[in-house]
Amino acid sequence: MVVDALSGREVIFAAGRAKRPGSSGALISPAELGEADTCPFCEGRESETPPELFALGGSPERAPDSPGWQVRVVPNLYPAFERQQVVIHSPAHARSLGELSDGQLALIVEAWAKIAEEAWSEGFDHLFVFVNEGDAAGASLPHSHSQTVWLEREPPQIVAEVSRLRREGCELCALLADLPPDLLLAKRKLDAGAVHLAVSPTGRAPYELLIAPSEHLGDAFGETEQLAAALALAADGIRRLYAVEGPTPLNLWLHNFQSDGHWHLELVPRLTHFSGSELGAGIYVNTLEPEEAAARLRG
Ligand SMILES: [Zn+2]
Ligand SMILES: [Zn+2]
Ligand SMILES: [Zn+2]
Repeated sequence: MVVDALSGREVIFAAGRAKRPGSSGALISPAELGEADTCPFCEGRESETPPELFALGGSPERAPDSPGWQVRVVPNLYPAFERQQVVIHSPAHARSLGELSDGQLALIVEAWAKIAEEAWSEGFDHLFVFVNEGDAAGASLPHSHSQTVWLEREPPQIVAEVSRLRREGCELCALLADLPPDLLLAKRKLDAGAVHLAVSPTGRAPYELLIAPSEHLGDAFGETEQLAAALALAADGIRRLYAVEGPTPLNLWLHNFQSDGHWHLELVPRLTHFSGSELGAGIYVNTLEPEEAAARLRG
């Protein structure tokens, strides 16, 4: 049994199953005929979403809710939270972050930062950002998008991590410093430090990835260059997953800390199902050792 340094959750690696995680049939099914012809998130069908909050990448003359945008933000049509927005990642029909260019990913980050600024100005304490891809991961529409949720206090998983990720004695700084080189998949050097893409040494599911800046920084939405590099590395990780397993359902989210903490992205592929021990005991059984996962993703 191993303990995840960031969250404290317990993980048991039970390798030795011959079948690959993706062989259970959980992959994202191919696009249905005409999927893009009826997709409400594609450019040209702006009237099929609630009126946009803002869009990026268009010309200054563009009218709201008309074509000519690169990233478009609309309120969630079926919100579960008081304030919840959908960030549509591209004008053309793309089904995964892995299909998008670095420039497009940087615009998405710019949209998140703009939403965060508004949330702070209205007195909210936390902006939770996440991406679901595939039915098995809870995605409602196949067109690549993220959701942003405004919260009046930090959610439980952030609360669970914050005491471990303060500057003094930060567990993520320690994890990155001691990371076995085998688990590091890619690294992007920036003017200030670097951002890492690694297989989590304590992932709760096969191929779980951790993306984090090497430096202990402040609010992620104030460091869009680093966050854009992190999102580009997440897309790199997704492309590697697709090469090994095929179109993999997944959840990706940002753990950001308003006060003192070490922000990071967590990417959890959903090739296997969580069962009673995960949901009931909080003990995760992962059937793929991180070293084996990393070897396949590097290949
Ligand atoms: Zn579409
Ligand atoms: Zn740190
Ligand atoms: Zn985290």
